[in-house]
Amino acid sequence: MRDLVLVRFGEVFLKGENRPFFMKKLVDHIKTSVAPLGGKVWMSEGRIYVSDFTDQQACMERVAKVFGVHSVSPAVEMEKDDFEQVCHQAAEMMKNMTGSFKVLARRSDKHYPLTSPEIMRRAGGYILAHTENLTVDVHHPEHEMTIEIRDHAYLSVERMMGVGGMPMGTNGKACLLLSGGIDSPVAGYMVAKRGVELCCVHYHSFPYTSEWAKEKVLSLADILSGYCGPMKVFVVPFTEIQMQIHEKCPDNYTTLIMRRYMMRIAEMLAKQEGADALITGESVGQVASQTMKALTCTDAVVDMPVFRPLIGMDKSEIVERAEQIGTFKTSSLPYEDCCTIFTPKHPATKPSMSVVLAAEEKLMSDELIARAVEGTEVIAFPRQQTE
Ligand code: ATP
Ligand code: MG
Repeated sequence: MRDLVLVRFGEVFLKGENRPFFMKKLVDHIKTSVAPLGGKVWMSEGRIYVSDFTDQQACMERVAKVFGVHSVSPAVEMEKDDFEQVCHQAAEMMKNMTGSFKVLARRSDKHYPLTSPEIMRRAGGYILAHTENLTVDVHHPEHEMTIEIRDHAYLSVERMMGVGGMPMGTNGKACLLLSGGIDSPVAGYMVAKRGVELCCVHYHSFPYTSEWAKEKVLSLADILSGYCGPMKVFVVPFTEIQMQIHEKCPDNYTTLIMRRYMMRIAEMLAKQEGADALITGESVGQVASQTMKALTCTDAVVDMPVFRPLIGMDKSEIVERAEQIGTFKTSSLPYEDCCTIFTPKHPATKPSMSVVLAAEEKLMSDELIARAVEGTEVIAFPRQQTE
């Protein structure tokens, strides 16, 4: 007899000819996630199991964080021939539970002497007789003991929900504009959860923004890569562009024009990295640069689609998400972002395109952008790989 972790995955993406590709990605990511615990990952009859780990609970927690995993269960694999022993083990696994239960049986070994209904009935009766606080409810049970009879018997009853989504790397790549705020890490997470690989770009205005501000962003990237796997972060020096905008453009347009430069540079880096879309943490109406007209004006400088997964979310909903994924604490550290320096008192909420274009005429855009890209630092995550 040995302990396993049983992994369930969403059914949606398992149809059709992409299935082997999706499954391979999923298994590979589970392998990477459990590697520090020495876990062995294998597939059998359309299910994924992990065995040979040092710590079952830690193993479940890691696997539950892998995109594409629907839920995980602690499971037991044992000899199937002595059915009394199987029942005994099932009761053992449920001895501390209270409330209602039922037994669910699956039998792919058609030579097994008991049919599925017989397994359910006999195991159910045994559990009822050998536990203290359980009752049977076949319609809406609080607990479900699953007994599968295959090469061995497999038993599982507890369940931990996984993050869901699709396996990383099955839906292309996108470039996240990552600030140190609460929103952008959540936006990146939401797109990555759909199987989209990420690269990140961060604009840094040293010395107006400190080394601490940059470190904060790198810590956020580290947390994100815990979900998304390996990714690059481009740290782009933005001081010169911001100073030029501040000097030469109308005060109420500086934020918007700055955002247009961010998008232009992000698109260049995204193309270079083979990414097909940009992601930002904007939500409609949150600040002046996030009115519909302002967003249209920012989008006008790029050809790529811009994904804004938070567009319809309230700040409180975004904060809740940030807490769930573990970025909130770091995002709340009080270091400044380049968006918060040189902020105009009255930013234009209904910008005029002709004013924007006339203002940008005064800037040597190509050279400014080229110098920023030239000075860009590339940092690979997770960080320990580069050290
Ligand atoms: P966040 O909480 O993500 O910082 P925000 O509500 O503060 O967002 P803004 O500062 O207007 O909003 O930024 C909007 C979006 O622009 C961010 O979500 C992020 O995608 C991008 N962004 C802002 N500042 C930077 C930066 N310094 N580097 C990279 N991207 C940035
Ligand atoms: Mg911000």
